[in-house]
Amino acid sequence: MNDNDEYFMKLAIQEAKKAEAKNEVPIGAVIVLNGEVIASSHNLRESSQNAITHAEILAIQEACEKVGSWRLEEAILYVTLEPCPMCSGAIILSRIKKVVYGASDPKAGCAGTLMNLLNDPRFNHQSEVVSGILVTECSTLLSDFFKSIRLRKKSEKVSKNLNESIN
Ligand SMILES: [Zn+2]
Repeated sequence: MNDNDEYFMKLAIQEAKKAEAKNEVPIGAVIVLNGEVIASSHNLRESSQNAITHAEILAIQEACEKVGSWRLEEAILYVTLEPCPMCSGAIILSRIKKVVYGASDPKAGCAGTLMNLLNDPRFNHQSEVVSGILVTECSTLLSDFFKSIRLRKKSEKVSKNLNESIN
């Protein structure tokens, strides 16, 4: 781990917090080229009602527009949660050099947890993977979010039951 990785992961965490503020699962991503942030985005699946609007996909789109090329060969992607199969696919296709992620994803992670699509020599591109950067911050953001959803559902249920017992 180097200081830069922590610095840019903090920016990805800020993006994740923007998602949280919109009641989206808090996942954020930034893409860095030559030490400069060229794209930053966050998960928008609920507000867009579009299954593919993951933070990484949106960041890759923004980065490609910015550099005017589908090739992001010198770019580094920072993301708070391990990329899913779709995002890992997009990372391979856009030739991103390196991926740095925070929390592992035991349900969908394809950068080392369930499998490692980014490091498979059968594909025509491999990305270097660094994991566990600011892992506590990244995973606490997610667990707090899901905890608050569970609490909200529970209190909705309680008030519904109360209403029913009153009526
Ligand atoms: Zn994804």
